[in-house]
Amino acid sequence: MDRLLVDVVLPVPLPGAFTYRWTRVEDAAPPVVGDLVRAPFGRRRGIIGLVVDTRPDPDGADTIDGYPLKDLDAVLPEAYRLDAHRQHLVGWMAGYYGVESGEVVPLFHPPKPGTRGRRSRTVTADFPLDDAIDITLTDHQAATVDAAHDLLDRGAYGSILLHGVTGSGKTEVFLQVIRDAVDRGRGAIYLLPEIALTPQTLARITARFGDLAAAIHSGLSAGERCRVHEAAAAGEIKVVVGPRSALFAPVRDLGVIVVDEEHESSYKQDEKPRYHARDVALVRGRQCEAVVLLGSATPDLSSWYRAGEGRHQLLTLPDRQGGDLPAVELVDLRGETAQDGFSEPLIGAVDETLAAGRQIILYHNRRGFARQLQCRDCGVVIQCPHCDIGLTWHLKPRRLLCHYCGFAREVPHACPDCQSPAFLPGGGGTEKSELVLRASFPEARILRLDHDTTRRRGSHGRILAAFARGEADVLVGTQMVAKGHHFPGVSLVGVLAADDGLSLPEYRASERVFQLLTQVAGRAGRTDAGRVLLQTWQPEHPVILAAADHDYRSFAQIESAHRRAAGYPPFRRLARLGLSGPRSDDTNHTAAQLAAALEKELAGPERDILGPAPAVFARLQNRFRHQILIKGDLSRAEKTWLANCARALRDAHRGLDVSLDIDPVGLY
Ligand SMILES: [Zn+2]
Ligand SMILES: [Zn+2]
Repeated sequence: MDRLLVDVVLPVPLPGAFTYRWTRVEDAAPPVVGDLVRAPFGRRRGIIGLVVDTRPDPDGADTIDGYPLKDLDAVLPEAYRLDAHRQHLVGWMAGYYGVESGEVVPLFHPPKPGTRGRRSRTVTADFPLDDAIDITLTDHQAATVDAAHDLLDRGAYGSILLHGVTGSGKTEVFLQVIRDAVDRGRGAIYLLPEIALTPQTLARITARFGDLAAAIHSGLSAGERCRVHEAAAAGEIKVVVGPRSALFAPVRDLGVIVVDEEHESSYKQDEKPRYHARDVALVRGRQCEAVVLLGSATPDLSSWYRAGEGRHQLLTLPDRQGGDLPAVELVDLRGETAQDGFSEPLIGAVDETLAAGRQIILYHNRRGFARQLQCRDCGVVIQCPHCDIGLTWHLKPRRLLCHYCGFAREVPHACPDCQSPAFLPGGGGTEKSELVLRASFPEARILRLDHDTTRRRGSHGRILAAFARGEADVLVGTQMVAKGHHFPGVSLVGVLAADDGLSLPEYRASERVFQLLTQVAGRAGRTDAGRVLLQTWQPEHPVILAAADHDYRSFAQIESAHRRAAGYPPFRRLARLGLSGPRSDDTNHTAAQLAAALEKELAGPERDILGPAPAVFARLQNRFRHQILIKGDLSRAEKTWLANCARALRDAHRGLDVSLDIDPVGLY
């Protein structure tokens, strides 16, 4: 056939496919369903879309439905073609998340397909590999490997939730299951929450699989991303490692998908298409008849619930390898005279640990010097003029900074309201903790890991590697220090404000705090008796107590009861419509109209419409934000209807943004 009509879905927020003409030039092969093509659209050229249908064009039409027919610009090489499984995944994601199929397509190819480039150096080359790690499996580890082995033997889909305490050797289980799959000629995808924060795991995978494994992430050059994509499609690379986007890599005969630290919210994309990589991994795994392994010390409550329903096989690693879980002590801040955020017990523990020549991790969930600057006389808090949020005081460089929009101003000499020169710096952050430590322990070598110290590419890895090599005594940081690092030298973990975040008006607030405390506590005592000090204002709070006892099951029980009573996930499904606009009353009014329409169309015995209400952050970057929540199941048709409502509102109101988020993980 020398002439074809080709239907293509494009990454534009318009429904349906667009038809183009393809005419054979020389001996070029005709496009087939699943091919990626470049096509003109409006004034743009070369937009990458997916072929969903082709048919002969014997008459050589010039128009279609009254529009002039345009020629395709190009058909991309076969390495970029979507196989049947990945085509199906495009359709599933579009239907489930209420977006157009074309809007999902960019996930399935590197940003500049076909770019040639030099192979880049791996980012993990200088990370010390800890050969103390024993690879003889414990009985619990072996049970998980066997369960996966059985599924691979049968060539059947199955999902396993591996609940393993921190330091229990989950990674080794994953690596052995992947080895099992690779030995059978099958491929694997290993997802990590944030590649920059997990250099150790990446180093272990590349050490184990050599050239058969490669990482794929946004820090690589365009050429390197294409090289990995093409090599995976050709079957030369069997194991692809990366953050959520790596899930879409064209790994041949996919046998295993690992979702490491499956509870991490970075698996959810916070812009369109708002998919959750763990949930999509389960769909891809089912299509490919692969084994999906979800691993965590603190499983997402929804994964735990599904395991309870029998939808995942639950396996546990209850023991830490080579030692016990660290003892956790609660420091009641109510009775303490905490100097600059450090209680006497914490200062004492730091002193002892330094004297013993061991390492320390200190966790503070805020960066900066002081959270806010408040007038001592009239009480005014210096706020961001665009966000209605207190500015954070930083010392280096010296300024007040908004952590949401980046607005910066100099530190005022007098209160803008009453002209008083006296301010009360409130709270604290990592920068302040570092300074306090330097003043109290001038001999200690201190590193800080937070957003401010990791702006340059590769700086995360450098700081973590330096600490792992023992070049510092103390690592102070935000939640970045809580990730899955294995530091054998650490025997003390201090948490400066354990209950920070508990009071956020958001249904997952407790779960997030529990996860962070458990994860950060798990950094202590990997090789000897570790110690964890949690400073808290609420030592009787059940979440703090469960974290102190390393007791995930208690936490899950308590939290499930709350969620069930309040009708939140995993007991009921949730969808969120977020509206934001430059004018408060317009946005408010439109949100109210939309809520009324939803009430009429969707409300019922099994479904509730909540709101509109101001979002938790009611104004960010000069935009006023409202949200409407829908509790209950939505059909595919209803999601499409919602997406159409959102589009119609965007078209009708200049400057208004309306987003639909299915299974939102944060209601901010
Ligand atoms: Zn004042
Ligand atoms: Zn701001």
